[in-house]
Amino acid sequence: MSVAIQDRLDHVEFEDPCVRMDFGPSGKIASPSSPVDHAAIRQAVRTILRAVGEDPDREGLLETPRRVAKMYEEMFAGLHTDPGRHLDVTFEEDYDEIVLVRDIEFTSMCEHHLLPFRGVAHVAYIPNGRVTGLSKLARVVEEVSRRPQVQERMTKTIADLIEERLGTSAVGVIVKAEHSCMSMRGIRKQGSMTVTSSMRGTFRRDQASRAELMSLINGQG
Ligand SMILES: [Zn+2]
Repeated sequence: MSVAIQDRLDHVEFEDPCVRMDFGPSGKIASPSSPVDHAAIRQAVRTILRAVGEDPDREGLLETPRRVAKMYEEMFAGLHTDPGRHLDVTFEEDYDEIVLVRDIEFTSMCEHHLLPFRGVAHVAYIPNGRVTGLSKLARVVEEVSRRPQVQERMTKTIADLIEERLGTSAVGVIVKAEHSCMSMRGIRKQGSMTVTSSMRGTFRRDQASRAELMSLINGQG
């Protein structure tokens, strides 16, 4: 059985599609900006620093609110985009076996604690006459990850987008991640991985297809 696998996409460049010109209060173009309210974040970070007993005006913390605002803009950029657009360009291809891109690294943000969870996603589908570029699947993961969310929803969102945009019901998404909110605080379980999966169509119904996918993900294919 022939199978297309792209191993280890270690780095995926993230295009920032939400840069646009913004008109300041004066009506003049202020600067290229995003839909993120930097001033509100800066203010909030100062409030938090004060609330925990810090002095937001001491030298080491002066630039912190600005840095945090920039960081949040980057980490939550996926709130303002449609990650599915990466799948809009498809190619006709007479190939109806598993396409798998595994070990797509990502960092996302747990919506319960606003702490990162990071790991890898394995994304598979069986084309229904049309295929997409392999790197596009990685872009979808990258962009979906840039939202506050829980891992379960992230997994489902990726599967939904592939099912809808590629018009195939055979979709399998597996996400493995370590959650900072578990490893840094609370029960401090370092190294424990959370695994979530979304199996659709053939991968859900047919045990042989699912087993084949799992063996490919585990490198035995
Ligand atoms: Zn959490």
